[in-house]
Amino acid sequence: MRDLITVQGMVLSVMPMGEYDKRLVLLTRERGKITAFARGARRPKSPLLAAANPFVFGSFSLYEGKNSYNLAHASLLHQFTELAPLQPGVWYGFYFLEVADYFGREYTDEREMLNLIYLALKALLRPGADNALVRAVFELRTLVIQGEYPDVFCCQNCGAKENLAAFSRAAHGTLCTSCRRTAGDAQSLGGAALYALQYIVASPPGRLFQFTLAPKARDELCRIVHTYFRAAVDRPFKSLEILQKSL
Ligand SMILES: [Zn+2]
Repeated sequence: MRDLITVQGMVLSVMPMGEYDKRLVLLTRERGKITAFARGARRPKSPLLAAANPFVFGSFSLYEGKNSYNLAHASLLHQFTELAPLQPGVWYGFYFLEVADYFGREYTDEREMLNLIYLALKALLRPGADNALVRAVFELRTLVIQGEYPDVFCCQNCGAKENLAAFSRAAHGTLCTSCRRTAGDAQSLGGAALYALQYIVASPPGRLFQFTLAPKARDELCRIVHTYFRAAVDRPFKSLEILQKSL
């Protein structure tokens, strides 16, 4: 008799299998990223019909097999069905899931990542949401959680904490006015974008998506974060390609 375990988490991706089944990738608090099969989930009257969809948060009861899990039942906390009709918002959402899948591993602690995705999806649903800003916050904070983020609190050349005026990906952080020439890829950094970088790295999770930026500072922040993020990952993301085509 196999054991039934219950995990808290969310559905990152769903693949149809055979005629009636689905293969799910789940990000969970207790087991990290795992694969689970939802037998019969494509039948119209299946009790797993609602649970076996991307963006679903809840608790999942699973039978543990040798190499994978079988979903027995689920109780849903949040389905994010409001996201589906939002264009291009829903593609930002799929991108966040793909990034979580990229970094997720079995048996790692995914609580912070789960919380970040939940907050980022909520932020996309706000009326008038600045999706590009939500994406930049999500990308940089993901790198913070993964421990691969730039130092934006002092000059990477001389250690000064003041007059930070540029950002260099190669130097992994900020540079002061005297040292900005030491990095060939240094980009100018205005005060608002600098403050936003520091805020995203250091603020408590619940406050992450609670600020706005004027368009110029927002574009500066996004450019810096996207360039840094792209260099930190070793493959393109499919959902990002779709997102860019939809803009
Ligand atoms: Zn310096």
